[in-house]
Amino acid sequence: METAVIHKGYGSAVHHDSLAAPLYQTSTFSFETAEEGESRFAGEKAGNIYSRLGNPTVRILEERMAEIEYGEGALAFGSGMAAVSAILIHATKAGDHVLCSRGIYGCTFGLLEMMEEKYKITHDLVSMTTEEEIEGALRPETVCIYLETPINPTMEIVNLEAVMAVAKKHGLRVIVDNTFSSPYLQNPILMGADFVLHSATKYLNGHGDVIGGILVGKDGEEMQNIRMTVQKDVGGIMSPFDAWLIIRGLKTLHVRMDRHIANAKKVLAFLKEEPLVKKIYYPFDDAHPQVEIAKAQMKDGGGLISFEIEGGKKEAQAFMNALSLIKIAVSLGDAETLIQHPASMTHAVVPQTEREAMGITESLMRLSVGLEHTDDLIEDLAKAFETVKPKLQEA
Ligand SMILES: *Cc1c(COP(=O)(O)O)cnc(C)c1O
Repeated sequence: METAVIHKGYGSAVHHDSLAAPLYQTSTFSFETAEEGESRFAGEKAGNIYSRLGNPTVRILEERMAEIEYGEGALAFGSGMAAVSAILIHATKAGDHVLCSRGIYGCTFGLLEMMEEKYKITHDLVSMTTEEEIEGALRPETVCIYLETPINPTMEIVNLEAVMAVAKKHGLRVIVDNTFSSPYLQNPILMGADFVLHSATKYLNGHGDVIGGILVGKDGEEMQNIRMTVQKDVGGIMSPFDAWLIIRGLKTLHVRMDRHIANAKKVLAFLKEEPLVKKIYYPFDDAHPQVEIAKAQMKDGGGLISFEIEGGKKEAQAFMNALSLIKIAVSLGDAETLIQHPASMTHAVVPQTEREAMGITESLMRLSVGLEHTDDLIEDLAKAFETVKPKLQEA
């Protein structure tokens, strides 16, 4: 992987010996002759036609992603949600049922609700910890399993081995949103998944300056089919410039991930010693109830930590406001350490009772640990704890 993210899919000889992959910022491609155009449209000759159908810069990124997620093909989209919607449109038709893991990304849930209302494609959410539970939730019309693991923001783990066993037994497709782990920590296709998708906005790009999505598929022919149907006709493609930026970011994925993880573990150790911290959620924390499953399917614990402090929303907001180096923002996987408050931000649309059942309390915060020096991060956090301590003592 370390080599593929730097070299795969690019040869400088056909690009004027340019070491860096060039940016083909063009909407269309001209044909030498009318006959040449005809044969490209007929699919008899390889070659570029129009950037919605493929672009040389975007293709370099697609080839790299297919390689590092162990698929035969990949497609780049204008956002993570464009990748999610493309695969759900491709994998379902009216009357079908999709079985999902609990706590899927809010907009994915919104899309599924819309598909249910408009197209009669139904869904259910289950925690997916055992084969029995998954099997029990299947319906005759279930066609695919759609999941995320770890689950945002409580870091619950979906048991991938159990999912794959049930899917195999019942002939179901498995789609995994692998955004939280990145290809560095978890490769669902190797475990039996059919499709893996990413919000490239997060760890893949890693620099907080692009919105993008990637879909990787086990079957190359099917991916070409998606390219020439859903992607071409719905049109949520990635721009060449965004692909160029992600190619640049992706080159350091492994280096960044190592540091995100190392930093997260130091921050975790600090949080565990802090008396105002009530609960901590991190997949490789020994206190995590599913740490064994996490260790069986992930190379390491990643860069995200959620934690709950004493008090409620007021205290959580005071804590966040007292931070200065750590930025208050949604998104994750950037060089900057980011903190967000799920109950009032990413999960504000989830009804409160459901939120509480998921463990999203009013004082829960999610930290995306960045690449700064951990001494500085810990100093910033310690200062914020000092700020809320007197408020809690008053109460
Ligand atoms: C951010 C995110 C998405 C959506 O991606 P966008 O690039 O914002 O469209 C989907 N799934 C997960 C797990 C995410 O974190």
